[in-house]
Amino acid sequence: MDLEAQFNQEMLGIYHNAGRQIGYWAKRYLQKVRQSGGLQAAKDWLKPKSQSTSGLQRLAENNRLDLSVEALVLREPWSTLFTREELQVAQQRINLVSSYRLSEEVSGETHLLEGATCQVMINSYERNLEARRRCVEHHGLSCCICNFNFGEKYGAVAEGYIHVHHLKALSEIRQEYEVDPIADLRPVCANCHAVIHLSGKTRTIEEVKSILQNKLGNQN
Ligand SMILES: [Zn+2]
Ligand SMILES: [Zn+2]
Repeated sequence: MDLEAQFNQEMLGIYHNAGRQIGYWAKRYLQKVRQSGGLQAAKDWLKPKSQSTSGLQRLAENNRLDLSVEALVLREPWSTLFTREELQVAQQRINLVSSYRLSEEVSGETHLLEGATCQVMINSYERNLEARRRCVEHHGLSCCICNFNFGEKYGAVAEGYIHVHHLKALSEIRQEYEVDPIADLRPVCANCHAVIHLSGKTRTIEEVKSILQNKLGNQN
């Protein structure tokens, strides 16, 4: 079996695994793979404009990003079937979703909605992922406190990764609250984000900036 045929098997394999293991039967995905073949389907999904984040979201909610097309194409030997641009799109999408999952706002959000129906949580999660994307589109991928940029520092593997800090305290937020991605969210690096929330406080962006400035000033 040649590599392309093997890849096709893998594409069908992730469909079955997602269905069996987390109950996510992605019918449209299966249709597309059957129609176009695994390789072409993956290439279509990896076009920069292609909107394929809903499947990724679902997998991320279950901590199973390993079952995504994006993760599959990045693995050897399948990565050899794709262009640099396609692999970059895959990496950026994974980083976008994983950085959202890793920032503490997620656990805060889950906590906030504890006892609420699952549906509310999923809707809220989807809105927030979109909000996050728009925040980054407007404010950029560099930390708004120290200017750190993951892609510049670590290269392609971290391209597109950044935490997003919510300016409003979660305790002030009600379930029906609609996030304004530009006014309410800021991109921050993991270090500055930690300092914002250190010892259970929520410092303002300006406070952490001035802490950093004073520290730098003392060193001279
Ligand atoms: Zn920073
Ligand atoms: Zn935060």
